[in-house]
Amino acid sequence: MANKLNDLKDLLQYELKDLYSAENQLSKALPKMAKSAKNEKLRTAFEHHLEETKNQIKRLEQVSKDIKVDIKGEDCEAMKGLVKEGEEMMKEDAKDAVHDAGLIASAQRVEHYEIAGYGTVVRYLEMLNMKDAAKLMEETLKEEKETDKKLTKLAEEINAEAMS
Ligand code: FE
Ligand code: FE
Ligand code: FE
Repeated sequence: MANKLNDLKDLLQYELKDLYSAENQLSKALPKMAKSAKNEKLRTAFEHHLEETKNQIKRLEQVSKDIKVDIKGEDCEAMKGLVKEGEEMMKEDAKDAVHDAGLIASAQRVEHYEIAGYGTVVRYLEMLNMKDAAKLMEETLKEEKETDKKLTKLAEEINAEAMS
């Protein structure tokens, strides 16, 4: 179905819908990833990010209210694919550290997708002078970047284990 996009605010709504769908899919995927992680620090990281994700969903709903745009009813196909690839990875017959290293690779793809989406939305909100909403989305963007960094850090240890 074609959306009518006349200006940057329409495109903003389009991007917010995508993020809202992506985050909702993640709130269902992250518990499975946590359960699947063998390394305790990695499991805790996923659990922590699940809590952040629930709050990120609330922020999107707050922004939707603030700027009066509907963000429901879209399906982020990319996140569907990323989650599916992650699920396939979890089913492989891999040694513990290799399995966890693969989980991190999947999770970082997700974080990068989110960083791209929130980066875009923050910029649009700033340009549209929607300062409160921009601030909220900036908070989420920061969390996604922090999560990515944390995963990189965990990977240093886990990838090394996966080598032997
Ligand atoms: Fe998120
Ligand atoms: Fe998408
Ligand atoms: Fe995230």
